[in-house]
Amino acid sequence: MAGVVIVGAGQAAASLAAKLRVLGYDAAITILGEEPVAPYQRPPLSKAYLLGQMPLDRLLLRSPEFWVEQRIDLRLGARVDAIDRAAKVVRFGSEAMPYDTLVLAAGAAPRRLPASIGGDLAGMHVVRNLADVDALAPGLRCDEQLVVVGGGYIGLEAAAVARKLGLSVQLVEAAPRILGRVASAETADAIRTLHLAHGVGIIEGAGVARIAGDVSVRAVELADGRSLPADLVIVGIGITPETGLAEAAGLLINNGIAVDTEGRTSDPFIWAAGDCASFPHAGGRLRLESVGNAIDMAECVAANILGAKRAYVPKPWFWSDQYDTKLQIAGLNTGYDRVVTRRAEGYSVWYFRGESLLAVDALNDARAYMVGKRLIESGRSPAAKAVADPATDLKALL
Ligand code: NAP
Repeated sequence: MAGVVIVGAGQAAASLAAKLRVLGYDAAITILGEEPVAPYQRPPLSKAYLLGQMPLDRLLLRSPEFWVEQRIDLRLGARVDAIDRAAKVVRFGSEAMPYDTLVLAAGAAPRRLPASIGGDLAGMHVVRNLADVDALAPGLRCDEQLVVVGGGYIGLEAAAVARKLGLSVQLVEAAPRILGRVASAETADAIRTLHLAHGVGIIEGAGVARIAGDVSVRAVELADGRSLPADLVIVGIGITPETGLAEAAGLLINNGIAVDTEGRTSDPFIWAAGDCASFPHAGGRLRLESVGNAIDMAECVAANILGAKRAYVPKPWFWSDQYDTKLQIAGLNTGYDRVVTRRAEGYSVWYFRGESLLAVDALNDARAYMVGKRLIESGRSPAAKAVADPATDLKALL
């Protein structure tokens, strides 16, 4: 029996393989990963690991013994080139591996600035995998000038680490404000204030025209004519789901590899999970880029491969650490029409559509996060007025 073959060796792949064993699946499980490293946690890459405060062995999701004991065959450094759906085989290098069930969990690739504007100069970095961070970290020295391009979580977390290490940091965001894709203006204001207080220069509404330099980056030139001196540049301008293999194999693509409610692609023997997969949600399609989604969706797909017939219902949560601030996010704010802010233990931003609570951003406020998450997951909505009143005991809202 060829068993289950998983393409990708990230969080989704590791969770799926482990869950199959927990659920009693006894046949072969193979993980094919392009990186030469066993599955590891990605969130610390732009936080503690980049700061040099977390060793590699703590980054690994499982001990080396786990994979052996669970009879999960980790094939690392294996870049899959093609899926032959008719033969039910995946090809990598000169090898061909048969599958009974194939899972695509190859994640996403960071967007880069084009080479035509200097995006390939030495000193240009992205923060997506271990090799990216291992290439970047030695350059983060206190006398260097860093320009961060992109004001999403990658850019902001990297800026915080670089300031802690003493670099001078300027962050450039093309959109009118930072966190435009993921958070309200109120949350973005709080995060901007935090970075300004730590000495980060934040330039919003400014596109990058060109990266100046001969071999190495020397400056970031903005479309408005400004030039920011730079010894190194971190580019955090979003990610693109890995859909190439699926597309070449003729699978349906729609903002990622399109799967049904159970996680099955348009081929009944092929499933997908994590950052690369878009699933039916609220009458449309959703693709979530988060570790929580990678774990939950992978575990749901594992159960469905074994016949559970369970619809995947996401319970979105995210977090970000910047300086001494922990931002915790529960729910999805898509479609909100107003926010209510609360200043009590910490600061929190509550997103509503009409009277319905959609999401909560909590800054150093674990209680607001916990209460918001439980309310959202149980489909209950507090009165906006009660939330805004710092005298309200949030737990009473439950
Ligand atoms: P992101 O959340 O998509 O943010 C990228 C930002 O860069 C956007 O605001 C984008 O603006 C801006 N941008 C795009 N092109 C630009 C350009 N040429 N010049 C300047 N700014 C530009 O992506 P990310 O921060 O790179 O993170 C990648 C993924 O990892 C995301 O899914 C993110 O959520 C995830 N991640 C999560 C965490 C966390 O949860 N703590 C931490 C790190 C990473 P537009 O939207 O207008 O394009």
